[in-house]
Amino acid sequence: MDIRNIAIIAHVDHGKTTLVDVLLRQSGTFRVNQQVAERAMDSNDLERERGITILAKCTAVVWKDTRINIVDTPGHADFGGEVERILSMVDGVVVLVDAAEGPMPQTKFVVAKALKQGLRPIVVINKVDRSDAEPQRVHNDVFDMFAALGADDDQLDFPTLFASGRGGWAATSMDAERVDMTPLFDLVLEHVKAPVVDVDAPFTMLTTLLEYDSYLGRVLTGRITSGTARVNMPVKALRGNVVVEDGRLSKLLAFRGLERVPVQEAQAGDIIAVAGMTDATVADTLADQSVTVGLDAIPVDPPTIAVT
Ligand code: GDP
Repeated sequence: MDIRNIAIIAHVDHGKTTLVDVLLRQSGTFRVNQQVAERAMDSNDLERERGITILAKCTAVVWKDTRINIVDTPGHADFGGEVERILSMVDGVVVLVDAAEGPMPQTKFVVAKALKQGLRPIVVINKVDRSDAEPQRVHNDVFDMFAALGADDDQLDFPTLFASGRGGWAATSMDAERVDMTPLFDLVLEHVKAPVVDVDAPFTMLTTLLEYDSYLGRVLTGRITSGTARVNMPVKALRGNVVVEDGRLSKLLAFRGLERVPVQEAQAGDIIAVAGMTDATVADTLADQSVTVGLDAIPVDPPTIAVT
């Protein structure tokens, strides 16, 4: 299956959770009668308590035979290269901006990093149903922000959707016909490159996120850079050229909607979570035994840890 990996960048409250819910529903990822037990990117208790996104999470929708992995970016101040590592997993970003509030400092902070990494933005001006919405002004503000951050011509030529995530509709301009949110998927397929990977090379994966699961133990998420991961495959964890751990991938979890489902194997380009390692951490490279040097990691201090 073809893959696209994108990150969503949004200020807290600009409607990311609502939008992802709608995308999951409208892509048919949920069966018609299936209830969404919890809102897509808001499942962590601590987050709910604080009302902010603490941990980046992944979700996936399938659209026109392509799996779109959607990675959340942290809505809080960045530390230890977290944003860069998350962005290193994706090939494009969706910048979601409230049509009344306009771009906020935290959005700018993450967008700056995305532009610097050469990622092409797709802009969603959200909540255009608000009575105080000023979609055109906000659209201009987004353009000015990108320009001020040194966006190149390609990045400045960004596609835009005007949307009401809550209303479940989007339009290519304020005068255009309002349709469901699925044009966003088409924009992703059109504007975001498929991951460039070598499926025949030995397995390597740069770990990006770390959680502890009471049943699985240490769970590491990342994008497979090359090769194929298989259940029970022996791997080593490399930090530079130092072997941190010799272990085994006891479980591979792929993202399907809001769920993580066990899979037997996963290929380069895909974002997966793995269990089985006990010492490997964020910014380490998990690799086939034949690999001797880790991937270029963005240094980490401190690691991103969540207890689930
Ligand atoms: P997040 O913090 O970015 O995940 O934002 P949420 O999805 O939790 O939305 C924040 C608030 O904005 C909630 O009260 C939503 O109901 C509201 N909201 C989300 N989308 C829209 C929209 O399209 N229009 C309006 N008017 N409100 C929205």
